[in-house]
Amino acid sequence: MDISVLTLFPGMFAGPMDQSILGRAQERGLVSIALYNIRDFAQDRHHVVDDTPFGGGPGMVMKPEPLFLAVEAVRAELAERRGAVAADDSPVILLSPQGRPFTQVVARELAAHDALVFICGRYEGVDARAEDVLATDVISIGDYVLTGGEIPAMAVIDAVVRLLPGVLGDDASAVEESFSDGLLEGPTYTRPAEYRGMTAPEILLSGDHGAVARWRRRQALLRTWQRRPDLLASADLSDEDRAYLRELESGGEPQ
Ligand code: SAM
Repeated sequence: MDISVLTLFPGMFAGPMDQSILGRAQERGLVSIALYNIRDFAQDRHHVVDDTPFGGGPGMVMKPEPLFLAVEAVRAELAERRGAVAADDSPVILLSPQGRPFTQVVARELAAHDALVFICGRYEGVDARAEDVLATDVISIGDYVLTGGEIPAMAVIDAVVRLLPGVLGDDASAVEESFSDGLLEGPTYTRPAEYRGMTAPEILLSGDHGAVARWRRRQALLRTWQRRPDLLASADLSDEDRAYLRELESGGEPQ
């Protein structure tokens, strides 16, 4: 996957994008992350990228010209590497608190593309013409306001890249974890089996794979019911799952 990020602060990406799983994914050629400094596309002598809002109001707004030129330059580079069709089909994602909520479903949807372009806003955000014309998607990472789109872009990139085939050591990790089937993952344990008097559930040490799978499913249902009951409405549930949830609703002993 080809990822292009337009930002005023490319230095913020060093570290989070270069280490651990994302760093290895880049080294192995599974993903490339190219950073573009929006300031380099400002054409005036002082490389000004922001201006005061028309009509007054606090703060500054990111000017449209550098953003249009930057997206055009990225598209041209993508077209050279992947062809015009792929470049035209690549989503251009503006990070904004006003965007559609980012979820695991959206991460999976984005992971199906060969290339993604991210625009990180700053200040009071970007000129509305850049949002209306350049962005094919607007994504929010939550109902709170951050100082810029860099951390949201990194969150989205991290969630997407770990879904790409071959990126995780064990691809099953991405299948069995929270949200993969609409449920939270249940509790996990590792050695030692007993620590300060607290023991890991015996069933996990039993070697009975069927019993372990059933226990895990119930724990996932229980945890989701306790912590995020809103997820249950759209989760993928079997008749057995529903029967267990009815037991929980009627005050049955969780097991
Ligand atoms: N004035 C804007 C508003 O009220 O919607 C907020 C601008 S915010 C201070 C600056 C930039 O940070 C935004 O343009 C966006 O790129 C990014 N940002 C802030 N919070 C975000 C969030 N929850 N999700 C995605 N991007 C966010």
